[in-house]
Amino acid sequence: MSHYDMVVKNGTLVVPYTGTIKADIGVREGRVACIASEIATSEAEQTLDATGKMIFPGAVDSHYHVGIYRPLSEDAESESASSAFGGVTTLISYFRTGQHYLNKTGMYREIFPEVLELSRGHFYTDYGYHIAIMTNDQISEVQALVKQHGVGSFKFYMFYKGLNLTADSTRGSDYTMADNYDLGHLYKLMKRVAWVASRNRQFGRIALSLHCENPELIRVFIEEVKVGGLTGLEAYSNARPPLTERLSISEATILADATNCPINLLHLSSQLALQAAIESRRQFPHLDIQLETTLHHLALTYDSAGGIKGKVNPPIRERKDADFLWQGVLNGDVDTVVSDHACCFEEQKKEDDLWGSLPGFGGSSLLYPVLLSEGFHKRNLPLIRIAELLAANPARNFGLYPKKGTIAVGSDADFAIIDLHKEQIVTPSLLHSAQDFSPFDGMSVTGWPSHTILRGQVVLSEGRLVAEPAIGQYLKRPIGLHPER
Ligand SMILES: [Zn+2]
Repeated sequence: MSHYDMVVKNGTLVVPYTGTIKADIGVREGRVACIASEIATSEAEQTLDATGKMIFPGAVDSHYHVGIYRPLSEDAESESASSAFGGVTTLISYFRTGQHYLNKTGMYREIFPEVLELSRGHFYTDYGYHIAIMTNDQISEVQALVKQHGVGSFKFYMFYKGLNLTADSTRGSDYTMADNYDLGHLYKLMKRVAWVASRNRQFGRIALSLHCENPELIRVFIEEVKVGGLTGLEAYSNARPPLTERLSISEATILADATNCPINLLHLSSQLALQAAIESRRQFPHLDIQLETTLHHLALTYDSAGGIKGKVNPPIRERKDADFLWQGVLNGDVDTVVSDHACCFEEQKKEDDLWGSLPGFGGSSLLYPVLLSEGFHKRNLPLIRIAELLAANPARNFGLYPKKGTIAVGSDADFAIIDLHKEQIVTPSLLHSAQDFSPFDGMSVTGWPSHTILRGQVVLSEGRLVAEPAIGQYLKRPIGLHPER
């Protein structure tokens, strides 16, 4: 009888916070059972030869929007498959009531089981959910969401609060389907999240994620841009300039300080935003503030993102902003890099309709490839840092570490086996997403996974998807509060 279900032989392991080592990995019952200089092939049911390749922990893409513009089950199936092509083994998706998604409002105790039901059997990766608390009534559900449903993280959109302040106030509340979506709501929510987080600290991190853009300023800048006649992605960036991020980060962190709420500042897009975030860490050293940026804000500029197809909130910026974000990635200010994946179609992005086009796009499958290509190869970003940015740090921030995000005895056997020197030009079809375009289209990228392994099962093998969508399991977070077995 074999000792291991699988042995991965002859690869070089990239172990977060530790280093790179040449070793064989023995997998039993979905977990890493042994890391040794040599494990005999005869001890294993199945052997995977990784000679010349790097073995990274499977990526944890912690910013995702499954089902935002398409039916949830269908979107989960096509987009999690796409993620697996890039070495992602876990994704954590945002869900909220209001427009898009399931287009309804109410209590999460009724709506969230429906989300889980629509999800079950449709993921090629393991998955979890962050929940946006949109209404006053939902604030009372925070503790139950953590304890019963395993939702260990929440969200507030700073730029939706303005939707209730515009002249057309009915339209705003139609969108959020909420009455008082403002700083008062945020304050109450932070108090609640902070309370639940402190009571459960020994089980893992519970936190509030913030989309920081200020809507009152956006309203004024949109008017200016419309008068000025500028079009395209540069106009979109001018309509929601970095100042709106800076002001919003300042408001959010002052409230976080007042409530002692652990927070994540999402998708920092610009120099000013990252500087404001770093400054808030200095100003409130006792606070737990985690900084996130995205692949597209690092790798694209408003000149290179393919026109309106690159419309996203916050907008893609200019070269100097991307350079500053890279610097933050290199020097350790930025904790996580994510995709903010939101699958949509080219027909929803009209070149002559900047304001009416849908924001967002997908890019999850490019996380490892682009960070290796633009980070490791071009900017000397160490491989271990890439494993931390894409796997270990998001797993820690969202209560999944060390089950997910690392390669260690006892951890889930989730691997991205990567050929550092494989070069491919990005096309929409290469990404295996339902999305029929990509703002990364035409980019030459060096460093691609040949295999993706989820809990010891092969999902991707040499460019072919070989698993079924029933493979993905829902992850209750933080894992310390929801132990398995
Ligand atoms: Zn997002």
